[in-house]
Amino acid sequence: DCDIDLNIIPKADGTEITEFLVKTRIDNSMVVIKRERMSIENYQKLIVVLKVLAELDTGKSRSQMTGYITGRLIYGTRSPKIEMRVNLIPTGKKKVASMSIRFQSQHENNFTTENIGFFTSDEKLLNEHIFYATDGLVIICGKVNCGKNTTLIALINKLKLLHPDKKIILLEDPIEQVLPDVLQIQVDSSDKEAGYSHFLRAALRHNPDILGVGETRDAESANLVLEAASVGHTTFTTFHTTDSTKAIERMVSLTKDTSKLSDSLRCVISQKLVKKICTKCVREIDSKIPNIVNLDSYIAKTGWKGEVQFSRATGKMADGRECPYCNGTGLYGRIGIFEILTFSEKTKDLILKNSPAYQIRKQAIKEGLRSLFLNGLVRVLMGEVTLGELIKQTGYPNAQKEGVSFEYDSDSVNNELN
Ligand SMILES: [Zn+2]
Repeated sequence: DCDIDLNIIPKADGTEITEFLVKTRIDNSMVVIKRERMSIENYQKLIVVLKVLAELDTGKSRSQMTGYITGRLIYGTRSPKIEMRVNLIPTGKKKVASMSIRFQSQHENNFTTENIGFFTSDEKLLNEHIFYATDGLVIICGKVNCGKNTTLIALINKLKLLHPDKKIILLEDPIEQVLPDVLQIQVDSSDKEAGYSHFLRAALRHNPDILGVGETRDAESANLVLEAASVGHTTFTTFHTTDSTKAIERMVSLTKDTSKLSDSLRCVISQKLVKKICTKCVREIDSKIPNIVNLDSYIAKTGWKGEVQFSRATGKMADGRECPYCNGTGLYGRIGIFEILTFSEKTKDLILKNSPAYQIRKQAIKEGLRSLFLNGLVRVLMGEVTLGELIKQTGYPNAQKEGVSFEYDSDSVNNELN
């Protein structure tokens, strides 16, 4: 039911024989599923066949290429319609292509703001700051493979539902899935003539109400994105920074325009993906929870009213067999955790004055920003995620960063010293 990535990496060792590995990504961990030997000649034939099917230029082998093959996958009695995204990258001295193939079931476009992991309180914020905006900039930030693009698509899906008459243009490299009623443009960031800034200019001539830009990396596209956001296009982009306030710093360093940025910025969403506890096998109280200083204060800060309990899954079925869903790991699937930074007159003023990220963060926390860790902690208390997995993804919490102040404690320590 989910997307499968196959990575075929040839090991051209100068001989006529090449060894190739078929790897797949399961919940973001790479697993080798096949190790084969094949002559380079046969391997090259395989590449040509794939290129023809994906309608790629068979004469080109020195640059990376992406194409699509659609068809039906037949297994057992089922034959779902699928789309294969084929990406070829030349590797090694001999420029033998390394392949990455993503299988995705077609029309499986079911990302919603609810099912990717936003809380109802997050939805309220998004509703207030994004869903009815007629201009302005929304940045989604996080590491590679943290689901930024999924969030972008979920937000676009929501906007499409709310405003079916609005014109939406989405620039992507590559197009991850086909969205009905959205003008999707395939960008090739490795090619200057076909990169983001090139298509951004073209897209603006089409006067979209909503503009999605797959990624902003350089000053030229950052300036175009900011310009678009300030002249009446609600503009979404993703950024490769781990922290929401750092994304602002980065945008300032790329555009040097704090005035336009403080005017246009509506929201910065920072996110991580965490593995979920398997729901099919036996659960138990988590006996190996990491030692977190002042954990009680963090729990209090989330406003959690229920019972405080940490769970994990055993990876075993009730009869003692290994759980077939999670292969005995106790983990199955992933969910996004988010931090949604919105802006007040005060935080906008800090951006205008080019204040450091920590100052913007401090003010935002005063105004109610809930950190990634605290939002993840709610998932832990709900029994969806283990505390260990949360710490693995977000790192140990920090009293200042999460907005839990221990000033009272340090005062009393000082008094004792006096
Ligand atoms: Zn399980």
